[in-house]
Formats: sequence, C-alpha cells, structure tokens
Amino acid sequence: MKNDLQKVAELILNSESMIAFTGAGVSVESGIPPFRGPNGLWSKYDPKCLDLDFFYAEPEESWKAIKSIFYDFFGKAKYNKAHEILARWEERGVLKSIVTQNIDNLHQEAGSKSVFEFHGNSQKLICAACEQVFLPKEIDLEKLPPLCPNDKSILKPDFVFFGEGIPENAYRKSLLAAQSADVVLIIGTTGEVYPAASIPIEAKRNGATIVEINTEKSNYTDSITDFFLQGKAGEILGELEEIIIVKV
Ligand code: NAD
Repeated sequence: MKNDLQKVAELILNSESMIAFTGAGVSVESGIPPFRGPNGLWSKYDPKCLDLDFFYAEPEESWKAIKSIFYDFFGKAKYNKAHEILARWEERGVLKSIVTQNIDNLHQEAGSKSVFEFHGNSQKLICAACEQVFLPKEIDLEKLPPLCPNDKSILKPDFVFFGEGIPENAYRKSLLAAQSADVVLIIGTTGEVYPAASIPIEAKRNGATIVEINTEKSNYTDSITDFFLQGKAGEILGELEEIIIVKV
C-alpha cells in the first residue's frame, strides 16, 4: 500500500488529463449514508419513493420520503476533506473534471467547477410542466407535494429517478472526458449502477490507468483497477496530497 501510494502520487503528477469518477462513498465522511449496505438508505426507506411512475401516481407519499432524505438530511450535510482535495487539484490543474453519480451538490460546494452530474442534483427542483428550476429554500416544503409558483404543477427534484433517462448533456460530456482521460480516480462506488458504471470502463478501453479508492472491493477492483488504495476517501486522498506537495 505504501509503495502504491508513492506510485499513484507519481502517476498523478505526470498525468495530463486525469478525471475522478465518484459515488456515494465520497460523501460518507460528510454523514450521508450510501444507498446499499446495512446502514444504507434502503434499510430505512422504500426505494419505490424514487420510482418515476410511483412519484407521479402518489406524489405526496413519494415526497414525504424524498423530503426526509434529501432536504431535512442531505441538505444539512457539509463537504468533507475528499471533496476539498479534489476541488484543490482542479484549481491547480492536476484534475480536469469530476464525473459524479452523487446528487448532493457537495463537489460544487467544495469549489469544484467542472462537475458532470450523471444523475442530476437534489438541490434543484424542477417544474414538471414549465421546467423552471427552483432552489429548495425558495419553496415551502412543509406542504407536500410542493407546487410550482407559476402554474401549480408538481415540482420534482432535479435528479434521475428509477425509470428515468440520464441527462443527455452530462452523459455526453462524461463520455468525452472518459475517452480522453489518462488516469481515472474511482472513488467510493460499487460500480453497480449502469450506465454510469461504464464510464471508467470506457476510459480503460481508451488506455487510461485506473486508480481506485474504496473501503472495500468493488466491481472494478478485480477487473479494470490497476491500483487499489483501500481506505476512506478523505484519508487516502490526504495521504496522496501530502506526497504530491512534497514532490512539487
Ligand atoms: P453505493 O451506495 O452502491 O456504494 C458506495 C460505495 O462507497 C461502496 O463501494 C463502499 O464500499 C464505498 N465507501 C463507503 N464509505 C466510504 C468511504 N468513506 N470512502 C470511500 N469509499 C467508501 O454507491 P454508488 O456506487 O455511488 O451507487 C449508488 C447510487 O446512489 C448512485 O447512483 C448515486 O447517485 C446514489 N446515491 C447518491 C448519494 C449522494 O449523492 N451522496 C448517496 C447515496 C446514493
């Protein structure tokens, strides 16, 4: 592991088009649980609340769970050391962009600018009819479902529900970034949710070196990963940053 940290630090310093591909694990140190696993969100909530058909059939029931997960809870979370380091690396030209599966907005809050949100963003609400976007703080979430101030249609969180397509722009930009990446940092994802999970695979096919940071093995570890750094995202990125600073 110690040797791998040194090698990965060298790789990062010599890279020209490194991207990060992040999942729920990067936000665990901010107190946001992943979906899966014993303490995951699905041990407490029914995933059907994020099913598109159910949402439009039973908006009030769906919104009760959505409010509790994404606004009462996610909304209060603060970015952590891993988000901060990735933002710093972008500012210093070490990291080109982030493709994230997360919908918590924490990369942007930490200062990252080039973020492709594969699954949208929970901190925006969109009107199902006029498509105007609102911030949660602009809308009264005490009365559910919340309605558009313009036309009284239902407001939907602007993230991808089960049964909904990937935002075209984010998909295209993520693919382009993957195809031109020389290094991909996969951070905190199981690699189970497709088509997002195919992004690092596409990068590998185009010759990228794959570095994975995760507390546990994932679908990538024994298939495309070149360097597996086991541990928490904030701690491993912190160790890499220390080596990189000494070498610069
Ligand atoms: P997942 O829940 O399937 O897996 C999380 C991964 O993170 C696991 O591999 C786990 O071992 C790892 N992990 C846990 N703690 C970690 C830590 N401290 N440091 C590094 N790794 C850690 O998550 P996924 O693969 O991202 O897929 C789930 C889907 O759920 C995604 O599409 C995402 O949109 C959504 N989701 C998002 C959030 C969020 O926005 N924060 C939270 C939950 C789920």
